[in-house]
Amino acid sequence: MDVALLSLLVFISLGSVGQNFLFLIAIILIRAGAHRLLNARQQFGPEKEYGRSVITLNLFLKDTFTQGVLLLLVALPLTYFSMISLTSFGHEGWALVAALWIGFTFLHTRFYPTVIAPLFNQFSPLDDNQLQVEISQRAEKAGCHLQALQIMDGSKRSANGNARVEGLGGAKRVVLLDTLFDILEKSEIIAVIAHELGHIKQHHIAKYELLLALIRFTWVFTIGYFVLTGVAPAIALSILWLVSSLYMFFLTPWISALIRGYEHQADAFVVSNGDGKALLSALAKLNVQNLATLRSDPVYRFFFHSHPDYQEREAHILGTTPHATS
Ligand SMILES: [Zn+2]
Repeated sequence: MDVALLSLLVFISLGSVGQNFLFLIAIILIRAGAHRLLNARQQFGPEKEYGRSVITLNLFLKDTFTQGVLLLLVALPLTYFSMISLTSFGHEGWALVAALWIGFTFLHTRFYPTVIAPLFNQFSPLDDNQLQVEISQRAEKAGCHLQALQIMDGSKRSANGNARVEGLGGAKRVVLLDTLFDILEKSEIIAVIAHELGHIKQHHIAKYELLLALIRFTWVFTIGYFVLTGVAPAIALSILWLVSSLYMFFLTPWISALIRGYEHQADAFVVSNGDGKALLSALAKLNVQNLATLRSDPVYRFFFHSHPDYQEREAHILGTTPHATS
């Protein structure tokens, strides 16, 4: 570990609880700041150059401010209660730290659509009644309850098209970016929504959240209990957070493989409902709109791609389509 950081950790460990707390918050803010700078470089660099990012400096700064306030609202109580847990309950306090972290993550996923997302984007219902009726019938026929479908003004930040499912339980909804309507036909929009319904039908969000909870618990509790035993709380929490990226790096390929599997399952759901052809045509258009590669480097894909590339999805969709001719 860097000598300067180690000296600082030793110095801080000799300080008061207040100093330790401020030190932890400083680490969190420095990490978030560095991440945001890299993000700015990406959005105002290559993505702007290739016409993907359309964000203005004003909006970027506004987003940064809102994200900073949200981070402090979360980090201050989480850090405080983590330190109190470790100080009051010793080694067993690590179970409480892990529970706090996991509890917060579930709350974030549950309330993201209603509390956080509206701070950044505007959401509106689909204004095409006929399309809405067709989608509802499709969902009903597939035995899938579509609680809400919302259109998001993604075009104020990016020209890329996308769709997703977000939220848990009663707050679950399908979100379509408005940029999709620039390039997709009605039948292709239905196929994209059917893909998201496939995720809902197979409870992918809940399964993914449970897996992450297990990973986080293992990470926080076992490392805290067995490795950071006897280390001052502020230092132990700092070490845990500083090396968490490294831990996640080694898990990334396995998590990516799991999500790629989810994508194939959602595509198979679309095929089983008769929209495979429209999905393929939508994916081809999205590939062009988002400047994605048809087939990426296998090692890079193994590590980082959470979505299969176009050719891989095409092979799976054609493989599961009855009487496929190409
Ligand atoms: Zn998907």
